[in-house]
Amino acid sequence: MIIGITGGIGSGKSTIARRLEQKYGFTIYDTDSNAKRIITQDKEVRPAVEHLLGKDVFDGNNYNTRLAAQRIFADKDILLRMNSIVHPAVAQDILRHGEDKLLIESALLYDVPAIADICDMTIAVIAPDDIRLKRAMKRDGVSSEEISARINKQMSSDKMAKRADIVVNNDGNNTIDELAKHIITEVNKRLTI
Ligand code: ATP
Repeated sequence: MIIGITGGIGSGKSTIARRLEQKYGFTIYDTDSNAKRIITQDKEVRPAVEHLLGKDVFDGNNYNTRLAAQRIFADKDILLRMNSIVHPAVAQDILRHGEDKLLIESALLYDVPAIADICDMTIAVIAPDDIRLKRAMKRDGVSSEEISARINKQMSSDKMAKRADIVVNNDGNNTIDELAKHIITEVNKRLTI
């Protein structure tokens, strides 16, 4: 079973995913770190990325994400080509995993059909923007302007909630344990349908 969990910055998706891992035996697949590993190590992906972005985005086994991001976001066509190299490779990697209870954590899940489509169900973690802003500022020690800019670039909570099979509101009125338990109840309901 592959379950996607998404949510905007500061929504609490990592916190809830970790609780599902600790209490209910899920394995977390973090798309960001795995994409970086695949870009750096995969025998087909790495040469394709070198060809697209330039060999100098790699220094041995280090992938210079800052330089890569500069080149990717400077040109829409490069962004689309990069996505078409990396996203299917990540989807293949997920499918190779074969774990029984795999939790795919990604802030961009619904922006990446290659990955959203292989999920058996998806969870959206939502919270009011002002609460997300406060949490992210506290966690990252950055300004409210910077966090607001990131919130505005991401898909809205409303849109995520419309796409999700299961929605959890992490606005602080429920404990993380309660939210995790609610998710398990909802997952089990869907498995017995
Ligand atoms: P990002 O996309 O930025 O990684 P995220 O959705 O993974 O965000 P978390 O890192 O899980 O969010 O949570 C953001 C911060 O808010 C963390 O410091 C976390 O401990 C805190 N947090 C999450 N949920 C709650 C809650 N219900 N009450 C208080 N603090 C919370």
